[in-house]
Amino acid sequence: MLLSRLAHVSQAVAATSARSRKIALLAELFRDADADDVPIVIPYLAGRLPRGRLGIGWKLLGRPVTPASEPSLTVREVDARLTAVGAVTGTGSQAERGRLMGELMAAATDAEQAFLRGLLTGEVRQGALDAVAVEGLAEATGAPPADVRRAVMLAGSLRTVARALLAQGPTALDDFRLTVGRPVLPMLAHTAGSVAEAVDKLGACAVEEKLDGIRVQLHRADDDVRIYTRTLDDITDRLPELTTAALELKGDRFILDGEVIALDGDGRPRSFQEIAGRVGSRVDVATAAAAVPVSPVFFDALSVDGRDLLDLPFTERHAELARLVPEPMRVRRALVSGPDGGAASEKFLADTLARGHEGVVVKALDAPYSAGRRGASWLKVKPVHTLDLVVLAAEWGHGRRTGKLSNLHLGARTADGSFAMLGKTFKGMTDAMLTWQTERLTELAIEENGYVVTVRPELVVEIAYDGLQKSTRYPAGVTLRFARVVRYREDKTPAEADTVETLLAAHPEVTR
Ligand code: AMP
Repeated sequence: MLLSRLAHVSQAVAATSARSRKIALLAELFRDADADDVPIVIPYLAGRLPRGRLGIGWKLLGRPVTPASEPSLTVREVDARLTAVGAVTGTGSQAERGRLMGELMAAATDAEQAFLRGLLTGEVRQGALDAVAVEGLAEATGAPPADVRRAVMLAGSLRTVARALLAQGPTALDDFRLTVGRPVLPMLAHTAGSVAEAVDKLGACAVEEKLDGIRVQLHRADDDVRIYTRTLDDITDRLPELTTAALELKGDRFILDGEVIALDGDGRPRSFQEIAGRVGSRVDVATAAAAVPVSPVFFDALSVDGRDLLDLPFTERHAELARLVPEPMRVRRALVSGPDGGAASEKFLADTLARGHEGVVVKALDAPYSAGRRGASWLKVKPVHTLDLVVLAAEWGHGRRTGKLSNLHLGARTADGSFAMLGKTFKGMTDAMLTWQTERLTELAIEENGYVVTVRPELVVEIAYDGLQKSTRYPAGVTLRFARVVRYREDKTPAEADTVETLLAAHPEVTR
């Protein structure tokens, strides 16, 4: 397919607000495309590069190049050439990239040059295009749109399904069925501010414990058990306990969704780090398993006895789960609805936190399983921890943040009145905050060492974080998970900042 055709359709799609017109334009384009063009055509239409950003900025694109008078470039040739530009590295690479880009632009017509500029600078990005492309593909190939949508969900890739559909027609969709032994992307959750808000949004729902472990998808076909992570890596060999558990269940053909955790002698969860260490460990599996034995806790069933359950409401999927998996191996949950739902779920959350877990996931009882999506029917609620810490130093930023003091070194007070560094963050800052802190920290600077500016420990900043983890890098032996700035607390003095002692006391799960 010629790039000029694609550029023309891209412009026409952007110019119309009528969804049906967009679908018709895409269907027409797909009818003319080769199966091998589509994995490029689809991301280009959405304004994305198939292999991510290539680092070709305005500098390379800025120079005007006399356009070609006739279109000749094909989509595949353009993609190959852009990939080649992105691959140039080493000394003199900027000049070489400029030369290659110049050649490409000289082969492009005026309209094609405009399209390429938009593509490479991200200006032609069309967020909702993938959903329209699914409809366009269905129209072009005569496949039912719902079947195409489902295949895309199960394959986790629109491009893969599009190529197969255009090469083979609607029968290609048979290859994207839910099959035991072939993992699908797990359903994900959105965040809600409180359980009351989540219950209010979802109506009749299950409030489940949110366990801080590793997500697993367990497949069993007779005696063959496979375990996949949320990124679909096969970790069967790392977790032999799960194979044993799966073989003890009643059914012999199923796909279950759950979390792997490790419990200590009192039945309290061990830290995420220990479980992650277990999965990523390089020592032999038997030694690792003896040190940190893990157990699965299941919360969903995607397929049982060859029956695909994805489209069934959660109530029915859970009934299948309960038929197969004994209660101790299922996540603890409370069913709530109606006006008392808020209070009941608050109590469940409080109990869950007291048991040492990180929060709850609230799930609509009538919702299907949306593989690979952050569905609005699962809402996670975690209490946000905040601390008032002192800025000890800051690092000069890069890219957009060049010239700004960005990455903050954060300290908590210690018993002897000094400060112990707990970690760093450059997250959560607005542009205004960046400008303000650069000025303020420059005033407080006492030493500059390369890109780190050490400051007098006077500025107090409120930091939100998801939890603590052990760390040998920092003096208190712990660091913050997902620390981000909430706001500066100029109303507080460093003497009022939080102490290492209170921090450790608030996280017995890490310090035990
Ligand atoms: P997050 O990683 O904070 O986005 O939270 C989503 C993750 O929570 C999922 O991917 C699961 O690994 C985990 N999780 C723990 N308990 C549950 C549960 N009951 N239902 C769904 N996900 C859970």
